[in-house]
Amino acid sequence: MATTTQALAQRLGKNLGGYFGEAIDIPAVLSEVRRLAVATGWHVEPLSAGPELELLALRRVPATPTRRIYISAGIHGDEPAGPLAVLELLRANQWPECAEIWLCPCLNPTGFPLNKRESAAGVDLNRDYRHLRAPEIRAHVTWLERQPPMDLSLCLHEDWEAHGFYVYELNPAGRPSLAEPIVRAVSRVCPIDSSALIDGREARDGIIRPHLDPALRPEWPEALYLITHKTRQSYTLEAPSDFPLAIRVAALVAGTAAAVQHAC
Ligand SMILES: [Zn+2]
Repeated sequence: MATTTQALAQRLGKNLGGYFGEAIDIPAVLSEVRRLAVATGWHVEPLSAGPELELLALRRVPATPTRRIYISAGIHGDEPAGPLAVLELLRANQWPECAEIWLCPCLNPTGFPLNKRESAAGVDLNRDYRHLRAPEIRAHVTWLERQPPMDLSLCLHEDWEAHGFYVYELNPAGRPSLAEPIVRAVSRVCPIDSSALIDGREARDGIIRPHLDPALRPEWPEALYLITHKTRQSYTLEAPSDFPLAIRVAALVAGTAAAVQHAC
């Protein structure tokens, strides 16, 4: 076990100044996501964001749902673990019966072929939720506006600067926190970033609880849109992309599964 733990704890040291790791074949991943979703009873709704630009929205409706949960991934095209984690979660198909789930597996389908953060048009889509300039985000928000309020939202990301997994919590109503259960579950498969400062923010044991006033932020990430319009509890899960891809995928799978289980 010692060698496994040591291997897990090692950064690769190749992602300096940006992400230079594995890319994914996003059309192939999304086609498998769609196939698995249909096979396991999800509703599949393609959202048109323009000519030849389509986003996928999935919805799971169990017999007796009591919690509405929103999950998104793949808004940054250099963060492949998110869409791959969605694929793994669909493959495992271990969702609790309480959970009605809305799932967007990839919000930036043009960024992945370039293995870069922005869309092919050069837009950081995760800064566009206040002004809605990009067609992807207009299509996404138009769809979100048609959905009911959510009990919980989870956004799956990666960070090449991180020394381990960490999570942002937005919980303005002070509901029972899911941050600790998320970090506990992830710690079994991936190192946690224990830095006191992550991404310029105060952090403790891999948890950042930023004090954010959306009104004061000129550009909104998806999580700020969600906390303003859709939910009172939001988590942004960040896998460390200077680690092997399999570990990052396992981290996002474990964190997402733990959050969904604890929300029920
Ligand atoms: Zn990201």
